[in-house]
Amino acid sequence: MKLIFASNNKNKIQEIKNQLPDSIEILSLEDIGCMVDIPETAATIEGNALLKADYIKRHYGFNCFADDSGLEVDALDGAPGVYSARYAGEEKNDQANNAKLLGELADKDNRKANFKTVIALHYNGEQHLFTGIVAGKILEVAQGEGGFGYDPLFQAEGMTKSFAELTLEEKNAVSHRGRAVSQLVDFLKEKEE
Ligand code: IMP
Repeated sequence: MKLIFASNNKNKIQEIKNQLPDSIEILSLEDIGCMVDIPETAATIEGNALLKADYIKRHYGFNCFADDSGLEVDALDGAPGVYSARYAGEEKNDQANNAKLLGELADKDNRKANFKTVIALHYNGEQHLFTGIVAGKILEVAQGEGGFGYDPLFQAEGMTKSFAELTLEEKNAVSHRGRAVSQLVDFLKEKEE
């Protein structure tokens, strides 16, 4: 079976390929010649995942899936949420986003937050959503050099290190994306057996 992943992010594509049996072939947007930057204009993380998956289904007709993620901070009523990438501006700068987040939380005691990933799948005429969540808190000071985005400021519940201090394997084992991907992989394996 061919399945299109509406992404050109090599790390994400490889992570999913590693977990799937060879009978499921994952194609990226580049692989199918789709050069469009699919607009992410929905007001929710779910909505953006669906927008991207719907676009591919409409234009290419294949089974496909898309993901969208964000950081939701309790004391900020769920912000930056769907706007996580461009929290501090359209240039999507991780450092500026982290600085803005620390500023917004400076006078707040509640630092609880969670990362969320939604994967929207179109599979043989059916639509499915898989949601992965990891709960944690926003640290007072950035820690670690690894990862990307808000990783230096996020510590998962029960851990003593930030996401930026974990190996990729350690992060994938608990992360929002890892959890959503596991659900997708379990679903596909069952269907393809
Ligand atoms: P995307 O939908 O996976 O591209 O994620 C959107 C934005 O959410 C990213 O640009 C980051 O700012 C933030 N984000 C999502 N996942 C993570 C993560 O695992 N670590 C840190 N930041 C993340």
